[in-house]
Amino acid sequence: MFFGDISKKVDNLGGEKGFSSERKASLPDLPELPDLVILGSTGSIGTQTLDVARTHGYRIRAMSAHSNYKLAEQQAREFLPETVCMTEESAYRELKTRLADTDIFVTYGKDALCETAALSCGMVINSVVGMVGLEPTLAALGAKNRVGLANKETLVTGGELVKAAAAENGVDIVPIDSEHSAVFQSLMGNEGNRIERIILTASGGPFFGYTKEQLKTVTLEQALHHPNWSMGRKITTDSATLMNKGLELIEAVRLFDVTPDQIEVVVHRQSILHSAVEYEDGAVIGQLGVPDMKIPIQFAITYPKRLPSCSRKLSLFDVGTLTFEHADEETFVCLAEARRAISKGGTAPTILNGANEAAVAAFLDGRIPFYRIGELVCGCCAAIPHTSEVTLKTIAEADSAAREYTNCEAERQI
Ligand code: NDP
Ligand code: MG
Repeated sequence: MFFGDISKKVDNLGGEKGFSSERKASLPDLPELPDLVILGSTGSIGTQTLDVARTHGYRIRAMSAHSNYKLAEQQAREFLPETVCMTEESAYRELKTRLADTDIFVTYGKDALCETAALSCGMVINSVVGMVGLEPTLAALGAKNRVGLANKETLVTGGELVKAAAAENGVDIVPIDSEHSAVFQSLMGNEGNRIERIILTASGGPFFGYTKEQLKTVTLEQALHHPNWSMGRKITTDSATLMNKGLELIEAVRLFDVTPDQIEVVVHRQSILHSAVEYEDGAVIGQLGVPDMKIPIQFAITYPKRLPSCSRKLSLFDVGTLTFEHADEETFVCLAEARRAISKGGTAPTILNGANEAAVAAFLDGRIPFYRIGELVCGCCAAIPHTSEVTLKTIAEADSAAREYTNCEAERQI
């Protein structure tokens, strides 16, 4: 949800008594079986959203995928959406042929993806990866669809536009990113109360405690082995560089209207406390649970209600110890660069994001070693000037300048 200021935001979240039994009785009724549009249905969040849909019998009105036509076909045959949109041309052709014996409409391309997001439905779950998710988010909001947002790059690059579109259309955005879902839940029942700070937890990734020297020799396989979460390759790499926390810091600034200084990043290796809010009286309210994305995904769909879930329940006895440490921003330079980018504002976060998307793609293709991701991102942010005007045009320009610079540097310095 977007709000003009914190007090207004808290005003809109959950009412006076949160989820007490008195309050529960007056929560607005959800449709029993909301129909969903899932963008990025073949990914980690997309498949887990389908797991939630399967559990509760939600109808899938439409879905989208990029290249994985085999999984898209299986999903389409199981969930029988009206439309499946593919954004990779050969995958589109293949899927169209494979689904020729059904009534499912197969569409292709970026415009079709926006049209899919704008189909009238109970909620659009945006779980595509990368800033390619921005325009579909705007299309969904423009069609007055409630949005469950996993795609953090949308808020990093086009936060202002997304905020304006949500306000203009009177539509909710419910975060799916576990930290932001935790903050969102910690704000519920606190209308009128001032936030002192947001405690944004970070697992620290597979290389927590490594020195710059040690990072020079890490492999792709090590980077893709996250200690607590099983996720797509891009976000797993972002977790290893701590860019994920940088993007999330920007995401939190956008979602909750706080300043970057109000966000404290805390490394919490167990990923049990998913984030917390400190209020001015010193009370800290957080959300805990096992690291399972199906919990925030389901909550985004059922908000403000809760439903039973198949997720494992938390046993604090099994966890035993919760630890909290500082992040090493000198070694993991992406986090510090993200702070700088959001402080500069305008298109600076888009430049950061574009450089990161290009650098991570180069790393995943084996074109650059791990430690070069941070170097390329910082180099790009220093080299490409940002502008304060944020429109789809300036975002697109900043993004392509950042990608071009980064790809060129990646090539040059191999
Ligand atoms: P995945 O890589 O697992 O899935 C990405 C999805 O997007 C796939 O369906 C993929 O299609 C599709 N896709 C890829 N490229 C494009 C493109 N150019 N245009 C349109 N669609 C495309 O990613 P995740 O599910 O891990 O992450 C999705 C988003 O959610 C990211 O923004 C991530 O930061 C965020 N997020 C993820 C979490 C997680 O636990 N995974 C946690 C919190 C946030 P195909 O597979 O067919 O190629
Ligand atoms: Mg997260």
